[in-house]
Amino acid sequence: MATGPFNTAQFVASEAEDWAPTVLPSPPPTEYTVTIGGPPFSPDEPQRLVTTTADLKTRFAQYVLRKLPSLDGLNGAAKTDWRLYYTAMARVAQEPTSTLAGLSLFGHEPIQSLEAHFEDVLSGLHGPFHSLGTAWDNKPDKTDKGKGRTSADRKAQDVVPQWYDEACILCGFPQPQGAHIVPVRALRFQDAEVHWAMLRKFWPLSMVATHELITSGREETNILPLCPNTHWLWDKFALAIRPIAHPTRPQHSLYLQLLWLENHATASVQDTLSDFRRQRAGPHPGIQNGDVYELTTTDPAARPLPSLRLLQIQLGVHKLMSAIRAAAAAGDIFRGDPPDDKGLPVPSDLALPSRWEAALDAATGAGALDRAAADLWRVALLRHFLGLASNEEDDDEEEDEARATSGDRQAHEGAEDV
Ligand SMILES: [Zn+2]
Repeated sequence: MATGPFNTAQFVASEAEDWAPTVLPSPPPTEYTVTIGGPPFSPDEPQRLVTTTADLKTRFAQYVLRKLPSLDGLNGAAKTDWRLYYTAMARVAQEPTSTLAGLSLFGHEPIQSLEAHFEDVLSGLHGPFHSLGTAWDNKPDKTDKGKGRTSADRKAQDVVPQWYDEACILCGFPQPQGAHIVPVRALRFQDAEVHWAMLRKFWPLSMVATHELITSGREETNILPLCPNTHWLWDKFALAIRPIAHPTRPQHSLYLQLLWLENHATASVQDTLSDFRRQRAGPHPGIQNGDVYELTTTDPAARPLPSLRLLQIQLGVHKLMSAIRAAAAAGDIFRGDPPDDKGLPVPSDLALPSRWEAALDAATGAGALDRAAADLWRVALLRHFLGLASNEEDDDEEEDEARATSGDRQAHEGAEDV
C-alpha cells in the first residue's frame, strides 16, 4: 500500500449531459435556410427550407431508416452488415451531441435535393464507421496474451490505483483495477490520431496536435482506477465516462461525468453501482446518469491526471458502440433466418470485428437471438469478412435469389472496401 499524499476523487453534483463548469460563449445560430433545386439542378424555382441542425439530423435518421427495405435482396451476412450500419447511423444521428460530417447545410451552396445530400453524407461516414467498429477491442487477443503491453504499461496499471489510495474513482470500492482508457491494442494497430480523425466525423471534437495523443512515456495517463464491477460495465458499453476539462487548472483538476448508455439505463443495471463514499452512515446511493466527479492531483508531474484526449476518444467510441448495441438489441438487424452453416470451416480462434461481437452480445442479451442462432450468425459473418465462399449459392432454394441480387451485392461490397 502506498502512503500519501494521494490524488483525490470526489462526487460533485448531478448535472445535465451538456454541463460545463464555465459559461460557454453563445452558440452560432442553429436555424437557417437551405436552398433546394433551382439551376443547375432543376428548371423549376428553387425551394427554400428553414431548418435547424436538430431537424436535419432527424430527417437524416428518417431517410436512413427508409432505406432499410432496399437491403432485403442481399444475402444473409451482407444484408445484416448493411442493416447494422443504417440502423446504428440513425441512432447516432438522434444522439443529442453528434455532429455528422458534411450534414450541416449552414452557409452551404444550393443542393440538388435533401435525399442526394443525405446519400453523400451516408456514404462518407461508412468507412469511418467500419474502421472504428473494427479496430476497437477491449478484449485481450486470444493469440497474444499481453504481448503488446510494455513493462511501463503494466507498471502504470499497478501504480495509478495507488495514487488514488486504492479506491475506485467512481464508487470508492477498495482495490480497483488499472483500467485502460483506450485499449492498448487499439493504440497499437491504429494509432490514436487515426481514431481521433475518424471520431471527428461523428462528434464535435477539436483538431489536436499529435503529441496530445501519445501515451508512450506517459502510460499512467491512459489508466483509470475502476473496481471490477465498474470496469466490466464500462467494457460492455453499459456506461460511458464524459471528461470535462477544468476551466482554470486543467493539470490539477478534471471532471468526469457518468452517463448510462441507451438500453442500459434501467434500474436493474444502475442499482449495481453504488457510491460507497457518499452517506457513509445510511444506505449508499446508486450512481445516477449525470453524476459528476472531480479528480485532483497536487503534483501533475509525479501523479498526472488521466488524459482528457484519450477519455474523449473513449467517450466517442462508447457512444458509437452503444448505438450499435441498441440497433442489434432491437432485433431488426437479424430479421429472417440465420444462414445455414454449410460453408467451408472457419478457424475457431478468429474473432469477429468488435462491432459485431458487441451486436451479437446485445442481441442475445436482449433475447432478439437465441444462442444457437447467434452461433450461426457468427460463422456466417466471419465467412463474410474473411471473403470465404459459402455454399449458399449451391443451394437450389437460394440460387435464384443469389443470382437476382448479385449485381446489387457487388455494388454494396465495393462500397465496403473504403
Ligand atoms: Zn467502482
